Amino acid sequence: MCWESKLTDWYEEGHRDLPWRRTRDPYKIWVSEIMLQQTRVEAVIGYYHRFMEAFPTVEALASAPIDTVLKYWEGLGYYSRARNLHKAAGQIVEMGGFPATYEGIRALAGIGDYTAGAIWSIAFNQPAAAVDGNVLRVISRLYVLDGDIMEEKNRRTIADIVLAHVPEGKANTYTQSLMELGATVCIPKNPRCEKCPLMEACQAYAQGRTSELPIKKKKDKQKVVDRYIGIIERRNPHTGNREVLMHRRPPKGLLQGLWEYPGVENDNIKEGFAAEFGLEVEAKGHLLDCEHIFTHRHWKMQVYEVQLTGSVPENDEWCWASVDKQAELMIPTAFRKIQEYLAEPEQLRLV
Ligand code: SF4
Repeated sequence: MCWESKLTDWYEEGHRDLPWRRTRDPYKIWVSEIMLQQTRVEAVIGYYHRFMEAFPTVEALASAPIDTVLKYWEGLGYYSRARNLHKAAGQIVEMGGFPATYEGIRALAGIGDYTAGAIWSIAFNQPAAAVDGNVLRVISRLYVLDGDIMEEKNRRTIADIVLAHVPEGKANTYTQSLMELGATVCIPKNPRCEKCPLMEACQAYAQGRTSELPIKKKKDKQKVVDRYIGIIERRNPHTGNREVLMHRRPPKGLLQGLWEYPGVENDNIKEGFAAEFGLEVEAKGHLLDCEHIFTHRHWKMQVYEVQLTGSVPENDEWCWASVDKQAELMIPTAFRKIQEYLAEPEQLRLV
């Protein structure tokens, strides 16, 4: 029996019961695949249920304001994924329904080879290679492939192997079984070879090289950036509530269009806020330190209490937000520790 049949038999005998595995609806499978990029399955399940409740159809997603969509994405990070989902939903509605060809799916905003392959094989049961990190690992070990899996030509080789082994009429099960094996058995460290349906076919196992594979050259480290964040508070003249000044980030670049506690890279906050925002301020006491690691950047944030000595520009880049309003704004996870700190009543202070 060839390895792919052993693999699909193993999957059919039992696998994790995940919500997106109970459907063949391409919209739902697409959303799950986008959420699962860079995010663990356990973390995605709750977001997936809430997202599907809010946007049960592609039409519902397309007609929702982007800010509402981002709100449901808050905490998952990599917000460009949500922006592309929303954009592609609009494209799908415009073309009258979910595209029914691989090329049509691949042409949608935010969909690359992997996601197109996953949707085409899982939702439409058509042969395709959906090669993610799990599949790269399984195939590298199965065939003892020594090439760096970060290199495009080696990924192509693996995609060709995957595609050449799609069992007739079982593309759906095959794609999911490869993913399942990589996630639960052929795991990065200490693969559970004794439980693996591919053990007899696996060359890495036969050669005792499972721990060496896959070959993955180390990525460059993230650039460390020091940021100085200013917490500017006031008491609302009408409600008497304490509020914090929030800044909306530019529409391009990192965390585009999301709300932040304003910050600069100049350790002289007074100078930095004047140059970057045109705000006149005086830095007061230090409140807390926190950090956040993005794909290419590592923010080390020092948070200060800051007093406003001038006025705030009257435009939609700025707003005063109470603790409740902050909870409604799209504030990226990078600022969660600050948000939590400010939500503690004893931490709220007025300069
Ligand atoms: S035998 Fe081990 S290394 Fe080979 S595919 Fe199975 S779990 Fe992975």
